[in-house]
This record gives sequence, C-alpha cells and structure tokens, in this order.
Amino acid sequence: MSVEDSRASLLAWAASELDGVIEQAKFEAELLLAECENVDRVHILTWPEKTVLSEVSQKYKSWIQRRSAGEPLAYIVGFKEFWSLRLKVSPAVLIPRPETEVLVQWALEIAQLDKTKTLDPCLLDLATGSGAVALALADELPELEVLATDISEDALLIAKENAINLHLDNIEFVRSNWFDAFENPIHGSKVFSKFNLIVSNPPYIAEDDTHLADLKYEPELALSSGADGLNALRTIVEEAPTYLTDGGYLLLEHGYDQGEAVRALLAARGFSQVATRRDDGGNERVSGGKWNRHDG
Ligand code: GLN
Repeated sequence: MSVEDSRASLLAWAASELDGVIEQAKFEAELLLAECENVDRVHILTWPEKTVLSEVSQKYKSWIQRRSAGEPLAYIVGFKEFWSLRLKVSPAVLIPRPETEVLVQWALEIAQLDKTKTLDPCLLDLATGSGAVALALADELPELEVLATDISEDALLIAKENAINLHLDNIEFVRSNWFDAFENPIHGSKVFSKFNLIVSNPPYIAEDDTHLADLKYEPELALSSGADGLNALRTIVEEAPTYLTDGGYLLLEHGYDQGEAVRALLAARGFSQVATRRDDGGNERVSGGKWNRHDG
C-alpha cells in the first residue's frame, strides 16, 4: 500500500482480509483503524476520503494481519471493557469475559449487605489476572478493602497498572499461589486478615478439552486445571474457610457444566446456603456459599 491510501481504501482492503475469518469483519476493520489513528469510529466513517500517514497504514496492516491469523482483538488494541471499566490487557492475562460480570454482581450484593456491620468489608480476589473482578468491586464500593492475588508477576504488573489508571487506592496486590502467601505471611502485612468475602475466577477448563485450542493466545495457566478442570476449585473450597470471617461468603466462577460438582464440593466442606447463578447464555456460571465457624 502506498502513502496516499485513504481510509476508505484501507477499510475495503481490511474488510476483505477479515471477511469469512471473523464474524464482524467490517466493524472490527473500522474499530482497528480508529484505534490506530487514535480517533473514534464515527470520525473515521464521517471522513472516509481522508488519507492516512504511512506509519499509521503500516501499523494498521500488521494489526489486520494479526487479527486475520486469529489473535484476539483485545490483545491487539491492548485493552478490554469490563463492567464499564477500560482495562489494560496483555497475553500475560486472560481477557475478561462478560459472564464474569455475574460474579461481580453477586459479590456486590453480598458486600452491600455487609455494610450494616461495624467492620469495613474486606474482600479477597484469588487469581486476579488483569484485576477485572477486584477492580470492578473496588471501584463500585470505595469503603471495601480489596486484596488481589495472582501467581504470575506479569499478571500482577498489569493489574497494578489498571488500579493506578483507575485511581483506586482501596486495593492491594500480593503474589500468591492460591493461599500460599497466607500460610507464610510477611509480618505486619494485611495478608493476616480474614475476609468477609472471597471471590475467584480460577482456571477451570479440563486439560484435554478441545476448546483450549481456540484459546491458544491466552495463558494456559489461567485456563486449565487438571484432568477434570476442578483442581483449582477444589483447592480454593478446601482452604478458603481458614481465611473467612464467621458468616463470610465464597463465590466461584466455573465452567458451564461444573455447577453440580462445585455445589457438591462446597456442601461437603460445610458451606451453607450453597447456590448457583447463571450467565446471560443461561449456563450455570458462579456458585457460592456461606461459612459459619461453628459449622466446622
Ligand atoms: N470462561 C473462559 C472460557 O471458557 C475460561 C475462563 C477460566 O478458565 N477461568 O473461555
């Protein structure tokens, strides 16, 4: 392509590259050009005859090639909207999914109920990734104290950057493999606390699930967990009670076909009020329960 390429000619070329490869070829072609030029999509559509600088058109061409090879849009543009927040993402983190908003909504309802208590509500988000769940909750409830963990330093760097960009100061981050950091706490750190609410969107896809091939751009560590996909969920259900206050709640995202298994794990561990919520697709997506100390 030459220096004189107009937006219209770039868009026509891009749409033909993406057509048949992705669902919304025309829309994404426009969106990617808008991001490349750092303007909004309407601007692009209003002045289609405008010529584009050669650096911009080079960058756009490489973006379109990456997209047509199957790389997720969010990794190309470097951000994803979640719960109306614009979150930075990179291949070090799972791209936040809309179904995870079910977890945020439920946690929000529980944290708001908790407001009637004298102590400030304290929430732990395990395997935070980009920070999506923890940041959405910290943003909604400024009085909430949030601690978010991840095993990956690279993920924590992204999550911390998101917290800074969103100007949130009621959130802290600790590197931890599930509850490991809590077993050997750094003296004086908040890690000693108990939490009214523990939430997680852990990896839950079975290791040999063919669906993983479609997710090859995302970190496997954030996606799969053992032969039946339940390893991380088992660890969390087993260990969470040690870190929950009396009457605290545990909420867990899981696969569409794991609701029954996760409810059974929670009930067997001694949680009460075990329940499941469905996502917009009608699939069982988040299960949780309440922990009472005298229960065990
Ligand atoms: N919901 C994601 C998917 O199936 C998986 C996320 C996860 O493992 N936590 O695409």
